[in-house]
Amino acid sequence: MFCYRDNTFYCEEVPLADIARRAGTPCYVYSAGGILSRYRAYDEGLAGLEHMVCYAVKANSSLGVLALLARAGSGFDIVSGGELHRVIQAGGDPARVVFSGVGKTSEEVDYALARGIHSFNCESEAELALIDALAARRGVRAHFSLRVNPDVDAGTHPYISTGLKEHKFGIEIGETEAIYERARGMRNLAAAGVSCHIGSQLLDTGPILEVVDKMLALAERLRSAGHAIRHRDLGGGLGIAYREGDQAPDIGGYIRRIREKLEGKGLAVMVEPGRSIVGAAGVLITRVLYRKRTANKEFIVVDAAMNDLLRPSLYQSHHEIVPLRRTGFGSVVADVVGPICESGDFLARDREIANVAPGDLMAVCTAGAYGFVLSSNYNSRPRPPEILVEGDRWRLIRARETYEDLARGESL
Ligand SMILES: *Cc1c(COP(=O)(O)O)cnc(C)c1O
Repeated sequence: MFCYRDNTFYCEEVPLADIARRAGTPCYVYSAGGILSRYRAYDEGLAGLEHMVCYAVKANSSLGVLALLARAGSGFDIVSGGELHRVIQAGGDPARVVFSGVGKTSEEVDYALARGIHSFNCESEAELALIDALAARRGVRAHFSLRVNPDVDAGTHPYISTGLKEHKFGIEIGETEAIYERARGMRNLAAAGVSCHIGSQLLDTGPILEVVDKMLALAERLRSAGHAIRHRDLGGGLGIAYREGDQAPDIGGYIRRIREKLEGKGLAVMVEPGRSIVGAAGVLITRVLYRKRTANKEFIVVDAAMNDLLRPSLYQSHHEIVPLRRTGFGSVVADVVGPICESGDFLARDREIANVAPGDLMAVCTAGAYGFVLSSNYNSRPRPPEILVEGDRWRLIRARETYEDLARGESL
C-alpha cells in the first residue's frame, strides 16, 4: 500500500511526490488495492455464510471510493439521505443499503423507501411509527432491525464510544423485546433483524464478541416469540494502527471468531466496517512552508491544517507524519501546525520528526477514514483534492476546490 523504496515514499507503484507535484498540496491519496484487500478480508472471511458487508459510508464517502467498493459487490451502511444519494450516484445497489442513525428525518425515510433500501436500523419507537406511516403511504412494507444498546464499554475514545446506557444511541437491551412486540401491530413494518454498533477504533475485540453473545441470545428469544428475525448486524468499529508499533486487530481473525459463534444458527450476518476498510489506505500529503522557533518550542508550519484533517484537533488523535524523501538530516522534536488561526490547529505535538526544510513534502499517514469527510472551508480554505491510485496509475476522484466554489450559493 504505502512504503519506502530507495528512500522514496510510494503508494502502490507511484512515488507520492509525483502526485504532489502534479496535483498540488495538500491532497489526499488513497490506495485502491489497500481498500479492496480489506473489504475482501471481511467478504472472504464470511464466505459460505449468508452475509452482507455494508461499508460505512461516513468514513469516506468519495464517489470514487464508493464506486470501487460497489464494483467489488459491497453493500453500504448510511446515516443520511445525502449518503444514499452518493451510493446511488456511485452505482451502489439500494437493495444492499442499511440506514442507521438516531435522527432520520421524514424526507430521508421517504427517500430511502422510494429507493427500496434493504432495511432500517431503528433507534426509537417514534422512528418506527414514522417509517410505518410513510411506508403505508407508499403501499410498501419496510424491513427493520432495532439497534440495541447492549450497555457494553467499548473502551475507546469517549466521543466515538456508543454502546453505554448514557449514550444517545440504540434502545436499551431490556426494552427491545416489548418494542418488537408492539411493532407487530404496525402493518407496514416487518422485523428483519437485530443490530448494534458499540463504538469505533476498538483495539480490543473482546467487547464486540461479548455483544455478539448478548445479541445471539436476544435473536433466539425473538425468534421463539415468533418474530421473523433473519439477520444480525454487528456494526463496525474495528480499530486500526495509527501509531507505528500499535497492534490493531486482524480482520481475518476477528471474522473467524464471529463465525465460530454464528455458524449453524441459521442467521445471516451483516457487518458495517468503515475505518478498518479505508483508514490505513489513505494519506494526506502536505508541503512544509516554514520552520519557526520560539523560546521553548520548535514549529514546522505546513500547508495542511485542521480544516483538512480534523482528527488531531478533535480527538487528540495521533497520525504518523513521514517525509516523502528520506534524507540523512536526522530528526527534531517539533509541533506540526497548519496556517489556521487557532492554537488547536495542529497535526502533531512534541513529535520527533524528520528534520525537514521548507519546500519538503510529508505524508500524514492513516488518513483515509474520517479525514476528508470531516474537512471544512474554515478560514475560507478550499478543500483539497482526492486521488485514487491503482497500481502504477492514479487519477483525480475529486478536484481541488476553487475560490468560486467557496462562495457557491451565496449572494450579496
Ligand atoms: C460509524 C458507524 C459505523 C462504522 O464505524 P467504524 O468504526 O468506522 O467501522 C458502523 N455502523 C454505524 C451505525 C456507525 O454509526
